[in-house]
Amino acid sequence: MFENKIVLITGGTSGIGEKTAEILASKGATIAVTGRNFEKGDELIKRLPGTGHLYVYSDLRNRQEAQSLIESVIEITGTIDILVNSAGVALHGTVPQTTDEAWENTMSVNLNAIFYLCRTVIPLMIQNGHGIIVNVASTWGLVGAENSAAYCASKGAVIQLTRSMAIDHAKDNIRINAVCPGAVDTPMLTAEATAFGLDIADGKRLWASDAANNTLASTEDVASAILFLASDNAKHIHGISLPVDGGSIA
Ligand code: NAD
Repeated sequence: MFENKIVLITGGTSGIGEKTAEILASKGATIAVTGRNFEKGDELIKRLPGTGHLYVYSDLRNRQEAQSLIESVIEITGTIDILVNSAGVALHGTVPQTTDEAWENTMSVNLNAIFYLCRTVIPLMIQNGHGIIVNVASTWGLVGAENSAAYCASKGAVIQLTRSMAIDHAKDNIRINAVCPGAVDTPMLTAEATAFGLDIADGKRLWASDAANNTLASTEDVASAILFLASDNAKHIHGISLPVDGGSIA
């Protein structure tokens, strides 16, 4: 289903993005991953099945870099069929505790980068007559959470941006959706446990207990949902925010 598709995955060097790259490559897609870790990016594209994969360095806090990322990938691959926006940061604090720097860092990676990337890629997709975008939001964009004001605001905005873009571009044969993971076993979750002063195993147990099935999501659980939304099986689905959360917000 993904043969000859060119897929750009932000945050593709770690966690959910990395697993999505692995599964899509195993199904025949050519993957362009971006991230700030050259060694990880290089190692990943060498181990992905198939050929033609590439790594492009990009710091998505920088608007210019976000825009030129799309241009660099198109220059090498000729086009982009699918964009998966998985890059993200989770900084914690109430509003009074959130510094300008933390707010701006959160918004620039989690929200602004998606805006800049979509603004650059959608005209190309219109020209191509097709395109798919999957944004990785969070259940914390659907419901509030303690000590995570900037993160929740950024993810809520991604969900609304997804809906607006989906409505505007369904007529262009571009499908735009989001997944909303609950707690997923990735380096981000490990870092969060440390940020909350928890032992990592205790943190994982605590977040797993938020889910009705008492289980943390694996990266594969979330990547499978991304693949579904990126596939023709989801051809009538536009603008949804699909929770992948073990029933935590049900
Ligand atoms: P991760 O830390 O493993 O991966 C995050 C990726 O984002 C990394 O590749 C990192 O390099 C990239 N990134 C961060 N800042 C960047 C920047 N300035 N420029 C370019 N790339 C940058 O975390 P993950 O859990 O795989 O997170 C993927 C997405 O899933 C994020 O958007 C996150 O908010 C969302 N999410 C994660 C969880 C969870 O529990 N892990 C839950 C809900 C949503």
